[in-house]
Amino acid sequence: MSTHLNGVSVIVAGAGLAGLAAARELAANGARVTVVEARDRVGGRVYTLADGFIEGQHAEAGGDLIDEDHTALIHLTEELGLPLARILRKGFGYARLAANGKVRIQRPSSARGWTRLSAALEPHIRAYRIGERRWDTPVAADLASRSVAEWLDAMQADEELRATAKGLRGFFLADPDELSLLALVDQFSGEETSWPSKMYRVEGGNQRLAAAMAAALGDRVKLGTEIVAVSQRGRRVRASLKSGRLTADLLADYMIFAIPATLLRRIPITPALPVHQHQAIAKLAYGRATKTLVQFAERFWRSATRPRAFGSPLPAGAVWDANEEQRGRPGILSLLAGGSASDATAAIVERDGVEALARSLEWLGVKDTTLVGSRQHRWEADTWSRGGYAVFDHTFDPALRGWLAQPFGKLFFAGEHTSLKYQGYMNGAVESGQRAAAEVIATHRMAARGRPLHTAL
Ligand SMILES: Cc1cc2nc3c(=O)[nH]c(=O)nc-3n(C[C@H](O)[C@H](O)[C@H](O)COP(=O)(O)OP(=O)(O)OC[C@H]3O[C@@H](n4cnc5c(N)ncnc54)[C@H](O)[C@@H]3O)c2cc1C
Repeated sequence: MSTHLNGVSVIVAGAGLAGLAAARELAANGARVTVVEARDRVGGRVYTLADGFIEGQHAEAGGDLIDEDHTALIHLTEELGLPLARILRKGFGYARLAANGKVRIQRPSSARGWTRLSAALEPHIRAYRIGERRWDTPVAADLASRSVAEWLDAMQADEELRATAKGLRGFFLADPDELSLLALVDQFSGEETSWPSKMYRVEGGNQRLAAAMAAALGDRVKLGTEIVAVSQRGRRVRASLKSGRLTADLLADYMIFAIPATLLRRIPITPALPVHQHQAIAKLAYGRATKTLVQFAERFWRSATRPRAFGSPLPAGAVWDANEEQRGRPGILSLLAGGSASDATAAIVERDGVEALARSLEWLGVKDTTLVGSRQHRWEADTWSRGGYAVFDHTFDPALRGWLAQPFGKLFFAGEHTSLKYQGYMNGAVESGQRAAAEVIATHRMAARGRPLHTAL
C-alpha cells in the first residue's frame, strides 16, 4: 500500500463504478475515504436483476456488454478475481422494417447501412481528424450545432440511411433530431477495432464488480445517504448529508463528485463553480433508456447461422441474448429502447402488457414459446440517475466539454459523462474514477510542496 495520502480525508459522492474505483485507489494510497451513496445498494447504473426470473437466472438492467478494448474495467475484474464470460461471438446484426411491413434481418451484409453512413460522413470525419478530434475548434462547433436529422435532410438521405441513423438510438439513447452531428462524427472517427469485437460480461452479473469493490471498503460506504449541499471554505470541504430525516455535516480535505450531471446540478455548491463549468453541468442532456428483460421457456432465437444480437429502428430497440453464459433451458432477451423508442416501448407495455412486446419479436422466431419472467427499468424515471447516460445534443457547446472533468479547488469530478474516450460506458466510469483519484494525489503532493494549482480558489 502506498502512503501518499496518509491522514488525508476524502469524501466520494456516489457508489457507482466511478465512485468506487476512485475510493479504491484513494484507500490504497492511505486516504481516509467516505463513500456517500443515496441508494440502498451500490453499482448505480450497473444493476443485475435476478428477482422475477426462474431457475436462478439473471440479467443486466443497466451496463451489460464489455468490449475487448475496455482495459481499465477488464484489469479491475482481474484484480478482483472476477471471471469474464465471452458472449455474442457473432457480433450485432441488423433488423429492419421491410416495405411489406414485416421485420427482416438484413442480408447479405448486416453492416451495409453502417458502411454507407460512414462513407457519407467521410468529409466531416476528415476535417475532424485534422483538428485532432478536439472539441474546442470551429470544426467541432460547426458539427455540434447541427442535429443528425438536419444533416440527413440536407443531403437528401434515402430511407436506408435514415433507418440506420434511427437504429443508433439504441446506442446513443437519442433520436437523430436530438443527437448532434459531432457526436456521430466522433463515434465514426474513432480507432478501427476488429469486427466483430470481442464482448464479455462478468460471470454471475456485472454488479459483482461494484459489490467486490464495496466489500473491500467495508463501512466506509454509507448507503441511503444523500449529499444535499457542499461548501469549500478555508482548507476544508463541508458536505451536508441527509439520511431519512437525519441531517449531518461531514468535513474532509477533498471531495470527488461521481454522480450524474442530472443530480450534480441540483446540489448547491459554495462558492459557485466557474461560470463555464456551471453551464456545462447545467446543459448536459441525458438519453431516455428503457431496458426490458424478457425470459422465455426456451431460447428460440438461437441459430447456428445468425448473430444473437441485433440493432434495429423498431420500438423494442436493440435486442440481444442477455444470458447465453448461464445454464438452463430458459433464456433471457434484453431489449434496449433508447430515445423515443423508450417512450414507445413503455407505452406498449402499459397498454398491452409485456406479452405484446414479446410478440413483437416474431421475426426472431418466437411463436408459442411461453414467457416465464420479465422486468423493465426506465432510467429516465430513476430518481438517482434521471437518464440513461450523457448525450451530446445540438444545443450543447462542445467547447464546454472539458469543464465536466475540471477540478475546482478541492472538488474533483468523475463519472461516465466526464470521460472523453469511453463516455457512456462502464469503462469510462472506472477510468474517470481512477483519474479523479490521481488528481487528488497530485494536488495533495503539490500543496505539500507549497505549490497550489491554478485551479485553486
Ligand atoms: C440502459 C443502460 C445500458 C447500458 N449499457 C452499457 C453497456 O452495455 N456497456 C457499458 O460499458 N456501459 C453501458 N451503460 C453505461 C454504464 O452503465 C454507465 O456508464 C456507468 O455504469 C456509469 O457509472 P457512474 O459511476 O458514472 O454513474 P452511476 O452508476 O450512475 O453512479 C452514480 C451514483 O451516484 C448516486 N447518487 C446520485 N446522486 C447522489 C447524491 N446526491 N448523493 C449521493 N449519491 C448520489 C447514484 O445513486 C449512483 O449510485 C449502460 C447504461 C444504461 C442506463
